Amino acid sequence: MSALDDLHDLGVLDRQVSECRACPRLVAWREEVARVKRAAFADETYWGRPVPGFGPPDAPIAIVGLAPAAHGANRTGRMFTGDRSGDVLYAALHAVGLASQPTSTHIGDGLELYGVRITAPVRCAPPANKPTPQERDNCRPWLAKELSLLPVRVIVVLGAFGWQALLPVLSAAGWSVPTPRPRFGHGAQVTLAAPRQQDRPLHLLGCYHVSQQNTFTGKLTPAMVEAVLTRAKDLAGLGG
Ligand code: SF4
Repeated sequence: MSALDDLHDLGVLDRQVSECRACPRLVAWREEVARVKRAAFADETYWGRPVPGFGPPDAPIAIVGLAPAAHGANRTGRMFTGDRSGDVLYAALHAVGLASQPTSTHIGDGLELYGVRITAPVRCAPPANKPTPQERDNCRPWLAKELSLLPVRVIVVLGAFGWQALLPVLSAAGWSVPTPRPRFGHGAQVTLAAPRQQDRPLHLLGCYHVSQQNTFTGKLTPAMVEAVLTRAKDLAGLGG
């Protein structure tokens, strides 16, 4: 993916990533899920490809999960769209003024994000939600490039797996990641020095993943998600 060195447009990056076939196991899986489908979505045409980031190109906030869900983003083609995790995330984004509406159902539903872009370190839905280390490494340049094209000042990381996958991406993109690596926790906040001295530092905020496992059990409440997003807005200079 050295061709990414010459790429300076987020729209072009989005198109290119959606055509990537670098991981044979994930290509086979995403396409099989798209062909077999879940019964509830039997009439739909699944996306079945890598999922690009979603949100404006001037976003100072990024939200990073781990990878698309098989019948969520792998179906709809938009990050966190079409599953319960996304229902929680988009409702919270709307509640704090970062989204135009509280739901995200499909591309073309009118949803706009304000100052935030949602993306992931792995762009293809993996079996059992578990990419291999090799697949994670294969996908690293896409997110490193995306973050280098955004004026990003804050990253909200959803879950420990996303946190572990993101830190090498940030190193690859030029930020200074301390050793030992900072640990994930809900409410964790870490500040990384910028690649170039004149740039502003990057703030990482940890948030439990918006998975059903966390939200149905009350481990993560809407108020907790909104509190992290509000903190992100303040750090990004978008606070009211
Ligand atoms: Fe390409 Fe990333 Fe998908 Fe692998 S996971 S095929 S590197 S987009």
